[in-house]
Amino acid sequence: MKIEISEYAGFCYGVMRAIRIADDALLKHKKIYSLGPIIHNPQVVAEYEKKGMKVIEKLEDAEGPVLIRSHGAPPSVYKRIKEMGLEYIDATCPFVKEAQRFAENLYKEGYKVVVFGDEKHPEVKAHLGYTDYTAAVICTPMQAKDIKASRVGVVCQTTQSVEMFGKTIGELAKRIRELKVYNTICDATEKRQKAAEELAKRSDVMIIIGGKNSANTRKLYEISSHYTQAYHIETEDELKPEWFENRELIGITAGASTPTYIIQRVYNRIMEMVNG
Ligand code: SF4
Repeated sequence: MKIEISEYAGFCYGVMRAIRIADDALLKHKKIYSLGPIIHNPQVVAEYEKKGMKVIEKLEDAEGPVLIRSHGAPPSVYKRIKEMGLEYIDATCPFVKEAQRFAENLYKEGYKVVVFGDEKHPEVKAHLGYTDYTAAVICTPMQAKDIKASRVGVVCQTTQSVEMFGKTIGELAKRIRELKVYNTICDATEKRQKAAEELAKRSDVMIIIGGKNSANTRKLYEISSHYTQAYHIETEDELKPEWFENRELIGITAGASTPTYIIQRVYNRIMEMVNG
């Protein structure tokens, strides 16, 4: 029996950067207010709450510096923070910022903006703000059939699957005369998904670690379960010994918001289970 951890598992550049920015801010300020959880990982959020970061769902609950997380925020949020006389700490991932800039430019150039992604995801909600809430959100080739405009500009949620994005663009290209596409799927996502797929093809079971509310972790689960038996867990406490009975290769991957120490704990617990 062998356990293999996938390449590119765990924290991505944008999440590591957001954590570093939050750490610096917590050294400077006694208390900071994170608009939404800093990352989609309940264990990390709980850790930062102890350090002085309060998660708020609406700006009105902020009483000090507001942290904009890696998913970014629409322009109205920055404006409102200034109106409230508060400071903001911007931890938006630079790749997300770039996608926002593309969306804004497409809107200003008169394109019908289409955001490929999950309409409920905070990153997508923020993108909409850069198009004055005129953009359409789609996430399947089928939905592409509903887009009726002669000039369409597309940006993509950074954590979407490359394959589905390609199929959807193909569908749009069948009928849109002028189609401008920015592939804003981040490199880290693509590499992590490809590595997970490659490992899942060879593994008898895949363990995917990350917040149940993390879109990119759920994507890894979807990809992996296409090839083998897969389980999505947040911590080692969810592991069950029967998952590993008569398995030769156990694969592990983790979403962009999973810290290395959680991956290590999962690895160790599996080792304990398989070695009795
Ligand atoms: S997945 Fe990519 S775009 Fe998203 S935070 Fe990480 S580095 Fe940035």
